[in-house]
Amino acid sequence: MKIYEQTELDFKDVLVKPKRSFINSRSEVDIIREYKFKWCPRKISGTGIITSNMATVGTFEIAKHMMQNKMFCCLHKHYPVEELIKFITENDCRDYVFLSMGLRDEDYEKIEKILTEYPDKCRNICIDVPNAYVPRVKELVVKMRNKFPDILLMVGNAVTAELVEDLILSGADIVKCGIGSGSACITRRITGVGRPQLSTIFECADTAHGIGGAICSDGGVVYIGDICKAFGAGADFVMMGGFYAGCEEAAGDIIEKTFQTNQIDPETGKPILEIKKFKVFYGMSSEYAQNKHYHGMPKYRASEGRVVEVPLKGSIDKMNQDILGGLRSYMTYIGARRLKDVSKCTTFYRVNTQLNTVFGE
Ligand code: 5GP
Repeated sequence: MKIYEQTELDFKDVLVKPKRSFINSRSEVDIIREYKFKWCPRKISGTGIITSNMATVGTFEIAKHMMQNKMFCCLHKHYPVEELIKFITENDCRDYVFLSMGLRDEDYEKIEKILTEYPDKCRNICIDVPNAYVPRVKELVVKMRNKFPDILLMVGNAVTAELVEDLILSGADIVKCGIGSGSACITRRITGVGRPQLSTIFECADTAHGIGGAICSDGGVVYIGDICKAFGAGADFVMMGGFYAGCEEAAGDIIEKTFQTNQIDPETGKPILEIKKFKVFYGMSSEYAQNKHYHGMPKYRASEGRVVEVPLKGSIDKMNQDILGGLRSYMTYIGARRLKDVSKCTTFYRVNTQLNTVFGE
């Protein structure tokens, strides 16, 4: 038995030190970064915020909105190939959309068809396996890189330096990092496996950058400040699912629920009722997802995700405006003129309390 004694950190365990800055206004900072990659020869300009390849936020509709802001969307892997082809031929997806694949042969055939038959459309691929420590992931990375040397290849998920290094040296441009931190994830509850997200980013980014690779922090964003902390810790991309799940454009019906308030209607003498709106959001390894997208849950698997009803938050464009506004403000506080400089300009305080919760969070 071994134990690492040092306490690992999550977003909530730190705040960021403000620094003297020569930036007078948020409008002076540049949130668009030019990304260069280890293997993919293409350069991309964007703000490294990306929606997860989950069924409600990794959608065509969400992708269109993300692209408008030079942000990214990782499409979920359950679209039929014809629909993917229609989307990538009708929209300019070259830079901002990733196509997902798992380890199944059907996934490979689908991606191979698109890369071969539509070579100038979308060449950003995400190999997504909750546990990238299994050997077949690395084998697939090698196969993809050999067959399609020019693709932008993201692979995950990992949380340790060894695997990040291994995947990058095998052909990955970006390693997706995070295990157990997702809002719809119950992996930590049912397996005890996982690593706090901030420490994951520190270690994985340091390793990746040392060998010319990049990382995408995946999961665990609760507040916009967490996106800033993720970039501050060294993430090149920050992926989010639950954060976007409540936007109007996310897939899924809106559910209306009636709640009794503690105010009394003076005319009727009865409690005033309030209607609240929600969207259903579910983990991609949940039993719900297995039933919806596959043929039910195999006997050897346990559900590693859950189903939640997320309060409706408003339009995705407004959310993106808030995110980018928060990021600009962060850069002004720490004196970072360019997104690329954010991690160099970030110093964290370890804290016991992050927020004043007198009036709720
Ligand atoms: P969030 O932004 O919601 O905190 O995290 C999103 C991430 O959670 C996804 O990108 C994915 O890596 C992870 N995730 C999505 N569904 C599941 C699931 O069912 N189980 C687990 N363990 N992780 C999930």
